Amino acid sequence: MIDKVKEAKQILGSRAKDIIISDFNITWNTKNNKGICPFHKEKTASFSWDNKKLMFHCFGCTANYDIVDHFIRKYGTFKEAAKELFKETGIDYRFEKAEIKTKRSPKAENTTEKNNAYKYLQSRGISKHTCEYADIKQDSAGNIVFEYYNQDDNIGLVKYRPSKNIEKGEIKAWCQKDVDHEPILYLMHKADPTKPLLICEGEIDCLSAITAGFRNTVSIPLGAGNTHWVAHNFEWLNQFSEIILWADNDQAGKKMISELLPRLDENRVKVVSVKEKDINELLLIKGTRFVMDAIEKAEYAPVKGVVDLADIEDFDFKNAKFLSSGFKGLNKWTNGFLYGTLVVLFGINGSGKTALINQMCVCEPLSQGEKVFIYSGEMPRPQLKNIIEIPMAGPDNIEIKDGANGSTIHIVEKSVREQIKEWYKSKVLVYCDDSDVSYNAIISKMEAVAKRHGVKVFVLDNLAVIDLCSSENEKYTKQKEMTRLLVNFAKKYNAVVFLATHPREHDTIKRLSKLDISGSADISNLAHYVISTHRVTDDEKEDKKDKKGNIVDMGCPYDMIMDLHKNRPLGHQDKSIGLKFEIKSKRFYGDSDAPDKNYGWENNSEQLDWVIEAEKLLGE
Ligand SMILES: [Zn+2]
Repeated sequence: MIDKVKEAKQILGSRAKDIIISDFNITWNTKNNKGICPFHKEKTASFSWDNKKLMFHCFGCTANYDIVDHFIRKYGTFKEAAKELFKETGIDYRFEKAEIKTKRSPKAENTTEKNNAYKYLQSRGISKHTCEYADIKQDSAGNIVFEYYNQDDNIGLVKYRPSKNIEKGEIKAWCQKDVDHEPILYLMHKADPTKPLLICEGEIDCLSAITAGFRNTVSIPLGAGNTHWVAHNFEWLNQFSEIILWADNDQAGKKMISELLPRLDENRVKVVSVKEKDINELLLIKGTRFVMDAIEKAEYAPVKGVVDLADIEDFDFKNAKFLSSGFKGLNKWTNGFLYGTLVVLFGINGSGKTALINQMCVCEPLSQGEKVFIYSGEMPRPQLKNIIEIPMAGPDNIEIKDGANGSTIHIVEKSVREQIKEWYKSKVLVYCDDSDVSYNAIISKMEAVAKRHGVKVFVLDNLAVIDLCSSENEKYTKQKEMTRLLVNFAKKYNAVVFLATHPREHDTIKRLSKLDISGSADISNLAHYVISTHRVTDDEKEDKKDKKGNIVDMGCPYDMIMDLHKNRPLGHQDKSIGLKFEIKSKRFYGDSDAPDKNYGWENNSEQLDWVIEAEKLLGE
């Protein structure tokens, strides 16, 4: 549809000018190609027509205005505007059903009275035109009502804020309870995907940019700390070839920008930076021209691969984000895994490595609210599901039945299984393109889910089943290349990447050292953490006695030893952590860990919903 709109605009050409002039009843001076601006009060005409760009520009109030803006203003939404434009130019375009659905549910508690809302917004520098354009409403108590419509023009969220300056400790805003809570963008139904889109941090900033003349502006729903809207509106956002971000000039705003740049794609995202706190402050202090200037001066992120040392974030241990391993014994030395790092895990088959990975790198991150991506090359997917659900269920919810040939089958109780599934639904994404398991294909899928879904935890099990696309003699070079890509990936998306690998051929009973990783030494050189697993043998478990039968050496009380060989972020390394194995649920646990730990699915409810998180933010 985007191309069709561009085409229609060209076909319509300068007829657009006539339509707008006539609709606003503008007295046009053909000599200087100018008229009196409909958006601000003026005596000398400064609303001029640009025949190349096919739009008006006002030299008085800086407004830009073309036929699409005009139709959006007139008919309410971008889709309605496009429809009208196609009609006007005779373009045949068939809308999909969803594209013409315009259900405007009058759910919001609003009155026809708008004085308080308008008056307050005007005190913040927002023009009356903008209030009308955004269809600002007011409830019976005089609060401002911001109605959010999705791209199909259905109401998805209704927010309120008092029509006055808010003192510290007062509630800033709240959402209407009986309306859908969809993480959509304010005014997205009026945005034109053929033009650059400005995304800002709040409704008043959004209205400020529109007042300044930049109509193609939306606001995120719940402040810098909440990015659920990215995944929810991903397809819609993808229509825009240019996105401009204008976050508040504070720590939270900066953090949001660094999260959004890779997710929305640095190649199309520009960032506005100004001294002022936010758009509204700039509008109030300096006026519309400065707001438009700031938007025009938005810049792409600095050249990739080069960074100004002064701009590098200080490593602040207190504020650094760590992913807990779930094992107190390991966390003691690592504090968990620092986000933005690569963790290499290796151990022989049968050492419990895969079970440990599924527990530490899948169940545990899920319980911390993360989404997980898994590439599991060796394991059939139903089996993978099983090996995740069994430890997740815990010993109390598992029944052991006899299988064939003396084996045992671990069964998760049916209702528990359903509950677990409900809990991890859409949070665990499994790579499934078996026809292409090259590292490039896998990493490109990792990028896609990092961008779209905000996934932060990645599990690659294991190196041997990733296609390095190389001959035997360049294998090490390719391993190095892949490891480097993974390190860069982790850094770029502030993710934790777990790469499992085998040791080189060796005596199966021996404890492993860092040098035992098979393949290129660069794997462990480049990784931030290197951990190996060792299955404690029966011999090691047994007490050693002297000839008289006195115990001289106690047997090892554990089933697995996890050796931490490298820990670049905190330095503590060459530490060993003993783990026991809970047979029923196939879980590992250390001396200070509970074998029946609850991963969170048991108290799963709407509590984890983004809205709850949202309400917390709004109440701040
Ligand atoms: Zn003007």
